[in-house]
Amino acid sequence: MERKNAWEKYREESDKRQVFDFAEGYRQFLSDNKTERECCAFFVDKLKAAGFESLEDVVSAGKTLKAGDKIYAVNKKKSLVCFIMGKQPISAGMQILGAHIDSPRMDLKQNPLYEDTDMVLLDTHYYGGVKKYQWVTLPLALHGVVAKKDGTVIDVCIGEKEDDPVFGVSDLLIHLSDEQLTKKANKVVEGEDLNVLVGSIPGVKEDEKELVKANILNILLDQYNIEEEDFLSAEIEVVPAGAARDYGFDRSMIMGYGHDDRVCAYPSLMAMLQIDVPEYTSVCLLVDKEEIGSVGATGMHSRFFENTVAELLALTGEEGNLSLCRALKNSKALSSDVSAAFDPNYPSVMEKKNAAYFGRGMVFNKYTGSRGKSGSNDANAEYVGELRRIMDDANVYFQTAELGKVDVGGGGTIAYILGNLDMDVIDSGVAVLNMHAPWEIISKVDLYEAFLAYVAFLNFSR
Ligand code: MN
Ligand code: MN
Repeated sequence: MERKNAWEKYREESDKRQVFDFAEGYRQFLSDNKTERECCAFFVDKLKAAGFESLEDVVSAGKTLKAGDKIYAVNKKKSLVCFIMGKQPISAGMQILGAHIDSPRMDLKQNPLYEDTDMVLLDTHYYGGVKKYQWVTLPLALHGVVAKKDGTVIDVCIGEKEDDPVFGVSDLLIHLSDEQLTKKANKVVEGEDLNVLVGSIPGVKEDEKELVKANILNILLDQYNIEEEDFLSAEIEVVPAGAARDYGFDRSMIMGYGHDDRVCAYPSLMAMLQIDVPEYTSVCLLVDKEEIGSVGATGMHSRFFENTVAELLALTGEEGNLSLCRALKNSKALSSDVSAAFDPNYPSVMEKKNAAYFGRGMVFNKYTGSRGKSGSNDANAEYVGELRRIMDDANVYFQTAELGKVDVGGGGTIAYILGNLDMDVIDSGVAVLNMHAPWEIISKVDLYEAFLAYVAFLNFSR
């Protein structure tokens, strides 16, 4: 069956305005926040402004929690979770929105800086799944932190302001590319060749060999208080420079860096700000490291979420491991990540009845995975049925999809990890064109339907 186009809901100018206004807030967020740390800090500011208190403060003040209380916790400045306490005890289960805030990019190596033929470059190691040939001849910016030995942390963001310099990875000129163009696409630009050009003026000291590098090091010290050794304890991400932009004559879409998965994280968190006192505790969980397997202390595999729920249980008098088990088992989650939008330029990888389309609203993937659903969280039919009811009752337009044709490829998300906690969970989210390219595209109405879907899900009373 074919789903309807969601723009039909917004024919009235004032209705369309709501969609565009929400999308404009998102566009600005996406332009200003290009790393997991930046997203985390942005969302914490939003939460504080909306009256959320940090878990640490609540614990140290010796407070107890009651329905309507709003709490957040941050994990190593890279992932966060926030809660609005429900009327039911936490052990009755939570309504959880999950998404990730890391995106594919290039990271500087620990020893990145070198000089070659009077040019200075920074060596990188790419992060997540990228088509390397897409990352050359683009204006790039450096975002991240440099942690000094004395404990100070320097924030870095160069390449976004109008008068900032930008950086980039070069590509071979067409005139000398006969051999390069016969290579397979995965070999045209190789990982070790993703080197970012950052300078070319020699310094003046006569006893030094690498004068251009010396000059760059002087600039780094003067302007940013960074020494060469400080790169050892830095996290600098190389990302596309510049703002996200409206896309198309009708401005119905947004082109930007990092829609995957901030296009789900942003409306999830904004939905939390719309909730008053829910029946079941509302949760929004935004994690790091999804693009490299959800590993590490800030990824979904971390104990951070369970530990934080255990803290909350203690604050409501529901202590004990059994309460935690019940809280997790009785929870329901929308694990949101981007879906592959059907692309008329590449129809052959999709199966048209089970693909996601721009404009047709929130996407539900009963399963993702690859080759026989391997690695997928296959949501229970009963849960999918319940979600259909929630969406239809709230007049939210939604569609169902798989990630491409059978045996063409596939992908994973954080859904199965939440599933391991024995809760009902489904993959859901927003369709994206150009997924994992430096500039990805989404539809504004899909973003808005996702926001409405999240609000309806959090307000649901089982
Ligand atoms: Mn993703
Ligand atoms: Mn991804």
